[in-house]
Amino acid sequence: MPGPILDHSETDQILPKRADVIIIGGGIIGVSTALFLAERGVDVVLCEKGVLGGEQSSRNWGWVRVMGRDRREIPLAIEALKIWDGLDARVGGETGFRRSGILYISESEVDIANRDAWLKLAQAHDLDTRQIGPDETAAVMLGAGRRYKGALYTPSDGRAEPQKAVPAIATGARRAGARILTGCAVRGIEKSAGRISAVITEKGRIETSRCRACRRRLVAPVLQGTWHPAAAAESAQLGAAHQRGKPRTGWGRRHRDLCL
Ligand SMILES: Cc1cc2nc3c(=O)[nH]c(=O)nc-3n(C[C@H](O)[C@H](O)[C@H](O)COP(=O)(O)OP(=O)(O)OC[C@H]3O[C@@H](n4cnc5c(N)ncnc54)[C@H](O)[C@@H]3O)c2cc1C
Repeated sequence: MPGPILDHSETDQILPKRADVIIIGGGIIGVSTALFLAERGVDVVLCEKGVLGGEQSSRNWGWVRVMGRDRREIPLAIEALKIWDGLDARVGGETGFRRSGILYISESEVDIANRDAWLKLAQAHDLDTRQIGPDETAAVMLGAGRRYKGALYTPSDGRAEPQKAVPAIATGARRAGARILTGCAVRGIEKSAGRISAVITEKGRIETSRCRACRRRLVAPVLQGTWHPAAAAESAQLGAAHQRGKPRTGWGRRHRDLCL
């Protein structure tokens, strides 16, 4: 079955011989990592085997929400919403993000009790989530064909357009200096003296630069995450800090994670 039709985004045609960071995979996480790294002046190349956003990142619901998250994810989700707020201006494009609000419908007293359990977490983070009754639920869901017992409602949660977001962020990443290649599957990783030294793509070989801190080489593996640029921001921050050789909290462990 054909996938959704994505917005067009320009890509690069020439495979570079070398890069500071090579990202494998052009989903939401890959293009966001490329954006954040390029903005920090890191020489980054992204290799996507098909088209940008052609897999899971264009097939999701586009929700950008704090509501319902595991409590350990809540701080990351709060940061992600802040990033989405400024993302269109940052990339000079349209991701479709709007703070539309999100509802979790309650159809029974059991649903309401379950929503209450999560609400306690929300209060600890000073979120605007609240339980609403049948009338307010009907008012928020204009045109709904039936009435519900209520809903858990977070007006500050939002939604982006999965078919727009990846192309827009990729365009912003290229404008910031990232090189983005599509139809460029990574087939293998080359090592020398036990360390990663190059990525082998179907179009040729890209050598990885050495980290200025430890002289090892950097590769960002195929990235699987959530619909959150905040996760990409964190990896990008680590990558950039690493390139500068600047110690950070947890530096030792993260340094080992990055320098393969
Ligand atoms: C039904 C459903 C609904 C969802 N709804 C939401 C939601 O509302 N909100 C939310 O936050 N999350 C949602 N998610 C989760 C979200 O869609 C994913 O977490 C997110 O898209 C993952 O992005 P990614 O960039 O890590 O992966 P992907 O989008 O899968 O990107 C990985 C990319 O890597 C490429 N690739 C793989 N191997 C290679 C290789 N060897 N060489 C080069 N390229 C390669 C692939 O072609 C692909 O483009 C939903 C998920 C599902 C299943």
